[in-house]
Amino acid sequence: MDRQQEFVLRTIEERDVRFVRLWFTDVVGSLKSVALAPAEVEGVFNEGLGFDGSSIEGLSRVFESDMLLRPDPSSFQILPWRGEEEPTSRMFCDILTPDQEPAAGDPRNVLRRQLDVAGEMGFTCYTHPEVEFYVLESQDLNSDGEPVPVDQAGYFDHVTGSVSQDFRRHTVNMLEAVGISVEFSHHEAGPGQNEIDLRYADALTTADNIMTFRTVIKEVAIMQGKYASFMPKPFSQHPGSGMHTHFGLFEGDTNAFFAPNTEYNLSTTARQFIAGVLRHAPEFTAVTNQFVNSYKRLWGGGEAPSHVSWGHNNRSALVRVPLYKPTKGGSARVEFRGIDSGANPYLAYAAVLGAGLKGIREGYELMDPVGEDVWSLTTSERKALGIKPLPGTLHEALRQMEDSELMAEILGEQVLENFLRNKQQEWDEYRVNVSPFEIKRYLGLI
Ligand code: GLU
Ligand code: MG
Ligand code: MG
Repeated sequence: MDRQQEFVLRTIEERDVRFVRLWFTDVVGSLKSVALAPAEVEGVFNEGLGFDGSSIEGLSRVFESDMLLRPDPSSFQILPWRGEEEPTSRMFCDILTPDQEPAAGDPRNVLRRQLDVAGEMGFTCYTHPEVEFYVLESQDLNSDGEPVPVDQAGYFDHVTGSVSQDFRRHTVNMLEAVGISVEFSHHEAGPGQNEIDLRYADALTTADNIMTFRTVIKEVAIMQGKYASFMPKPFSQHPGSGMHTHFGLFEGDTNAFFAPNTEYNLSTTARQFIAGVLRHAPEFTAVTNQFVNSYKRLWGGGEAPSHVSWGHNNRSALVRVPLYKPTKGGSARVEFRGIDSGANPYLAYAAVLGAGLKGIREGYELMDPVGEDVWSLTTSERKALGIKPLPGTLHEALRQMEDSELMAEILGEQVLENFLRNKQQEWDEYRVNVSPFEIKRYLGLI
């Protein structure tokens, strides 16, 4: 029993915790949970908790179904929305095989492996996500078949007495109560759309925090009689919900992306990292944008990136290098704008980081930054600048991913195969579905 495990057992005792939930995710990033009685926790620390892995999407095959959950005691938190009396707590888990080996199909393990690769190269990876989402009146649709947002406000609007403001205040308090620091929160451009930016943390903690964040947002919405959604593009005519993430690599205390007196104060390491992310982005788009609907966001304008480019202060770019004072070299970082709010954060971060690390290992050359608005260029202008499109549909993204050696290496053959199977099925269902758009367009026309 190590000290963190002892701390968990003591807290359970002192706070009179009634349930300990064990959390993990499946291949698409849905949160899974099993509740333990407090008396079981010590045994589970020692031996793990057995469960049927073949019933979890993408985790294991039927003939190797026995799996173990091993709780990570450093992630122990009391869940504030379950009340103070006899509280409920949670821990994130790693998934092990019956021989106590990390399970190949565990998304958390996929990210851990990539962080180990970074570690072998001397880097620690820090991330800072900006999560966008819509707050709606309910899951019900209006007579036009659209969701109903809670307000009509826009970017940075301060709406007196608005649901959104109250909602954000509640959420921020709740997040801080589970140890997640919030840096900014504001109304986003769409009606009912909000953004909350979490303070930077190491990439594994950030991915865990995103899973907690989504749960907290949904819980707070329910408490206020509303409904929150992380769907990438719920409205055709309003911006989608991105999960832009800032990535930084540190060597000890030194920011490896910072080099004073160079273009944008970017080190060679940073340039190679960006080059890796850009070169491989089309191969990993299926992971960072995993739903049929994700491509409506990427190609529907609203400041979402649809092409592979980078820039300093250009919101049409896939990678943006944010402004910072050269005296604050420690905050040098790159913002990847491709990920949407519906992504599995473990797999998405592993993919972006893995691509960046490959760029560093192989010394990729970085293309020139693009100052213009990429959306307003013509196809031939883009071609002349070497700007390629991201995949246009989930189908196209899957085709690029299945041919990618890098993605097989990052995800492992098993996760790659499970992911492709799950997503191909989604595409197959989608492509035979006749949508309201088609009825409206063709029924009276032909
Ligand atoms: N909502 C936009 C997106 O889907 C981003 C807007 C912004 O720059 O914050 O990526
Ligand atoms: Mg935003
Ligand atoms: Mg951003």
